[in-house]
Amino acid sequence: MAAEGPKRLVLWDIDHTLIDSRGVGRSIYERIFPEVTGQPLGELAMFHGRTELDIMHDTLRLHGIEPSEPTVNRLAAALGRGFGAAIAELTARGRVLPGVWQALESLAAEPDTLQSVLTGNTAVVARVKLEAFGLDRYLDLPVGAYGDDHRDRAELVAISRGRVAHRTGVTIPAEHVVLVGDTPNDVHAALTAGAQVIAVATGSYSVAELRAAGAMSILDSLADLPLLRQALATR
Ligand SMILES: [Mg+2]
Repeated sequence: MAAEGPKRLVLWDIDHTLIDSRGVGRSIYERIFPEVTGQPLGELAMFHGRTELDIMHDTLRLHGIEPSEPTVNRLAAALGRGFGAAIAELTARGRVLPGVWQALESLAAEPDTLQSVLTGNTAVVARVKLEAFGLDRYLDLPVGAYGDDHRDRAELVAISRGRVAHRTGVTIPAEHVVLVGDTPNDVHAALTAGAQVIAVATGSYSVAELRAAGAMSILDSLADLPLLRQALATR
């Protein structure tokens, strides 16, 4: 980091942007949900790009359970423990998406850029997923923003900026924050918060769907580093 502090903050989404955990999350929910609620898991309100708090609230409601704070907290804690116990499963079933290593390494070499995550995952789950694959070495996780910080993904941008300011003394303007994500929710979060966004079509959404959500800059994947760098340069 330069002496005068970071000038740009790049916030990566995790699922289907950096990694694909191929259904491990659902398996873990199936294990922990009965422990917390006494009910088997039926429908999981797992829509792509939503925050974990939001998913937990709606999933509890779908099971006729009031999402009180203690219940949500117990579920979040059980989810963290469930992921912590599933690292071998994550690395066996999951994978790092093409181009991710090069992208993170390349940006890590830029003194003015700070990289972290903006994710719907809880902070504990995000850390488990990133450490399982070794991606945490490039990311400043304490200044990221997580699905247990706020239900509304757009609010996470300001939370991360606040953490950076607290850490470095530098307030990075919202327009110098770049979100990289794979869903319309990532795009909406960035646009609502006044941040930039690079959408990647490596999840469930096509280039056309991401464009319709308002993304100006869309990549098929992160595999082409020069294209990603070009997209970042024009942000
Ligand atoms: Mg995602």
